[in-house]
Amino acid sequence: MFNRLLIANRGEIACRIIRTCQRLGIQTVAVYSDADAFALHVREADQAVYIGPAAAAASYLNGDGIIAAAKMSGADAIHPGYGFLSESASFAEAVESAGLIWVGPRADTIRLMGLKDEAKAIAVAAGVPVLPGYKGSDQSLSRIQAEAEQLGFPLLIKAVAGGGGRGIRLVEHAGALAEALESAVREAEAAFGEGRIMLEKLIRTPRHIEVQVFGDGDGDVVHLYERDCSLQRRRQKVVEEAPAPNMPVAVREAMCAAAVKLANHVNYRGAGTVEFIVDAERDLSPDTFWFLEMNTRLQVEHPVTEMITGTDLVEWQLRVADGQKLPLSQAQIAISGHAVEARLCAEDPSDNFRSGAGLIERFNPPAVTSGAAVRLESGVASGDKVPPYYDSMLGKLIVFAADRDSSVGELVSVLSGFELVGVPSNIGFLVRCMQSEIFRQGRHHVNWIELSEDEVCRVPEAHQRAALDTAASLFMAQKNWTSWEQNDGFRVNGPSITRARLVIDSEDYFVEPGQSQAAGPHPVSVATELSPGRFAITVGGDSFVVGEPDYQHELEALAGGDVVRAPMPGKVIACAIKAGQAVMRGDPVIIIEAMKMEHTLAAPRDGAVGSIDVELGAQVTEGMALVHLQVNED
Ligand code: ADP
Ligand code: ADP
Ligand code: MG
Repeated sequence: MFNRLLIANRGEIACRIIRTCQRLGIQTVAVYSDADAFALHVREADQAVYIGPAAAAASYLNGDGIIAAAKMSGADAIHPGYGFLSESASFAEAVESAGLIWVGPRADTIRLMGLKDEAKAIAVAAGVPVLPGYKGSDQSLSRIQAEAEQLGFPLLIKAVAGGGGRGIRLVEHAGALAEALESAVREAEAAFGEGRIMLEKLIRTPRHIEVQVFGDGDGDVVHLYERDCSLQRRRQKVVEEAPAPNMPVAVREAMCAAAVKLANHVNYRGAGTVEFIVDAERDLSPDTFWFLEMNTRLQVEHPVTEMITGTDLVEWQLRVADGQKLPLSQAQIAISGHAVEARLCAEDPSDNFRSGAGLIERFNPPAVTSGAAVRLESGVASGDKVPPYYDSMLGKLIVFAADRDSSVGELVSVLSGFELVGVPSNIGFLVRCMQSEIFRQGRHHVNWIELSEDEVCRVPEAHQRAALDTAASLFMAQKNWTSWEQNDGFRVNGPSITRARLVIDSEDYFVEPGQSQAAGPHPVSVATELSPGRFAITVGGDSFVVGEPDYQHELEALAGGDVVRAPMPGKVIACAIKAGQAVMRGDPVIIIEAMKMEHTLAAPRDGAVGSIDVELGAQVTEGMALVHLQVNED
């Protein structure tokens, strides 16, 4: 086995790879940008090399810089993790021509599978079913319109180079095609540097099931069974599990066989995932699943497979890269139990999943008391900063138990008491999703979150009440105003205080402590004093920071009524207004791209546009004024 591995990635996956290396006695080299000098993966690696400015294009996507870092640090091999350069065939080639070992599939396989249209052609050649669609090189609007008519609506536009759910647009009818096409191409060009698209028949109510495969590049290919990743928001996975719920053995066999057939067809080397789509409106059957794409890398959700097969897939990757045989034969790979994973993201489901950066004041899972195995894969710890430049995923929680009910139940319970404070959090949302009857029965599908937004995306008022109430009690206890706790208007000298004014998110609330205490179904899991006069209260996975009034003064001033400011560093990609134009509060004015997502910034009040202070394509910094509304003269 090689001695020293450079990990060309950051966050939880870099930390995950480091752990396996430590067990195998392999030295690790981290790389970091300006934004990550103090990041967890840098702290955990044996050594770390600086590779450039914060923007990914200048650091984690700078292949030459990373190869130079590997040379300089004496690394023998490079592991790309997922995302970033993991599916770059030219980077894989450059690594090998530099005399280093590439921990991944051969460059030609990555290239073949990298484009969805070409990958589908290979699937067809391998005898694996694909959905009907248009995959031609003629990308003219007229041709695409004609092909769409022939395929029929509704359909999907997909960027052939796409990934992570990006560059996909649903088109309901012919009239919506041109606009959807334009926005898909724009997103694909910005994100993947390749605007080519394909059309595909839409499955209205899809489930996403994928198969983990592994090859040694020498003719041996095995599968490690399936994962269900049907809980998605905006076509990005939220919760994944293995095995798939309600999966008949015959379908499992057919799907795994198809995946192996495809991998064999390209003499696959390393870890790969073959993704399939199925129609959730009918029962699973061996002839109604279709190939979506092959991901030629380790997947975010690989831990659920590791848990049910008792393997370490990073170790497998390293062994295969070292030229060794696969650690197990197909006959030796069995599954037992059930594993579920939830992705912990710095994003706000109640605000259109807007991602947010900032200081993580608390990142703290509760102590586990049950017999289930709980695994936290994290790229951050309390006190770390989430930079605004990268993905919003902070880590993952994985639970493994004897059956699906127990593992889901335990994951819900662990998430409910998980404190994530300082940045927006999706944890309460995860809890609500997994508590729903539909998810419990395994009858959720890819569009379910969108259809259940009211139920799962909004923070229940009862949670906020419980948090306020607890905070009020804590303040009172702290200040030793014992009359509070009696709550009977008792006064010694002067007026009694029977109500507290508290602030959450710069909004004022008046609470009478004890009012809703012991209100039953929403118990407070954790309460932590962050600093004098500020408490973090977690209820059902929703964390609230509750403070005394003045606290948010500065923030309120910054929010300003007349100015639209950039909430984070990013790039202006669209401007919906002209100077002088009348706008209503909430109207979109500017779209910026940041943290790999589009953020629509809205007018803070009714009024007229005074000035637009940025140009299309401009890079903006956090807090920068982008648009001024006119100040009313009267
Ligand atoms: P995986 O299949 O490994 O679970 P996804 O399918 O969710 O990952 O995403 C595909 C790729 O896109 C991954 O390599 C991941 O790093 C990246 N990615 C994940 N989340 C996002 C996001 N919010 N925006 C853009 N890309 C993402
Ligand atoms: P990406 O590379 O972005 O992951 P995929 O082709 O894997 O792109 O599709 C992402 C997700 O979009 C899938 O997991 C599935 O939920 C949904 N999807 C893809 N193709 C279809 C389809 N033909 N009909 C309905 N949903 C689809
Ligand atoms: Mg996919």
